[in-house]
Amino acid sequence: MSKLPNITTSIFTVMSKMAAEYNAINLSQGFPNFPVDERLTAILAKLTKENVHQYTPMAGYPPLMSQIAKLVKSSYNRTIDPETEILVTAGATQGIFTTILALVKTGDEVLILDPSYDSYESPVLLCNAKPIRVALNDDYTPNWERIEKSCSSKSKMIIINNPHNPTGKILKEADFLELEKILSKYPDLLVLSDEVYEYITFEEKHLSAHTRQALLERCIMISSFGKSFHITGWKIGYTVAPEYLMKEIKKVHQFLVFSVNSISQAAISQYLEVVDVNLLGKFYQEKRDYFQKLLQNSRFELKPCEGTYFQVASYAAISEEDDVTFCKKLITDHGVAAIPISTFYSDHKDQKLIRFCFAKDDFTLESAAKKLCNI
Ligand code: PMP
Ligand code: GLN
Repeated sequence: MSKLPNITTSIFTVMSKMAAEYNAINLSQGFPNFPVDERLTAILAKLTKENVHQYTPMAGYPPLMSQIAKLVKSSYNRTIDPETEILVTAGATQGIFTTILALVKTGDEVLILDPSYDSYESPVLLCNAKPIRVALNDDYTPNWERIEKSCSSKSKMIIINNPHNPTGKILKEADFLELEKILSKYPDLLVLSDEVYEYITFEEKHLSAHTRQALLERCIMISSFGKSFHITGWKIGYTVAPEYLMKEIKKVHQFLVFSVNSISQAAISQYLEVVDVNLLGKFYQEKRDYFQKLLQNSRFELKPCEGTYFQVASYAAISEEDDVTFCKKLITDHGVAAIPISTFYSDHKDQKLIRFCFAKDDFTLESAAKKLCNI
């Protein structure tokens, strides 16, 4: 008897595996392919000879927790207590899972916007709670009226993802005002704010839940160094929550992993003393612009991208096939891997849209674009 009968292998695993099998250029799963900052690898090399190889304290390596508090202060002017409000996790994935497991009970309802990243629904189901999928508008902005109509006395949490994977949309001041209105009517509703791409926004600055006074006491904020420092394989992220919620989250964390990788935490804490996260937006904006320019003469129609390192594209002018079939053929017949957008929807709605990851070196983007322009 399966506890998750409808859950299959993640599309990111499926597409990356297929890309490798067919030796295709992998623009599917989101990870950078350029070298990590040498300052970070030098710190890591030096640390291998130091005494950082045993368990860290359960909630995180103290110097890293202080650095995270400093980062939140410098980015958002929010003061948080490293001892009581921060948890270092094995990537954002573990932060999301641990938070939901700790705070959501049998029978609760959790609002998940559709389309959505794939990590949210399973932990809700494992809690015997009910995911309530609420469709975004056609331009991928939240439909607050629909969200409010989906709230009830059973609503425990709403999950927002800003900047948004896969659409690259970012939330605006007006969105937060609407969210705050709903929260004022549902005093027990919590917000899980997945902001793993917080430093990857372009024309407009990222508006973080950290800056919203009305949210602070009810919001769990999730981030990941994987995205910010091009180290997705290190799997180090962090969760910020008010003490009364963090106490519960830590209870689960201590039995799920107890503590996470010590040397990575030590390296990141030292790197945070020298790195400037504010350069990341410009770096990826240039990548986005270059990728868009390379695809200018293709038959793909590129959608707006305000943040993240993902570009959504319509292939409606190329094929009538559904997006999963199209992505498979893109690998086998054209040598490029992408992600079908239907897999982010609860009802697998096919709109002839696919997602490319542009966190790649210029040579990879150029090679992929050459193939894509020939379709
Ligand atoms: N949330 C979103 C929106 C993501 O795109 C990802 C993965 N890239 C994660 C969470 C998971 O992050 P991590 O790899 O740090 O677990
Ligand atoms: N977040 C990455 C993406 O959207 C995938 C991470 C994973 O494979 N779990 O591509």
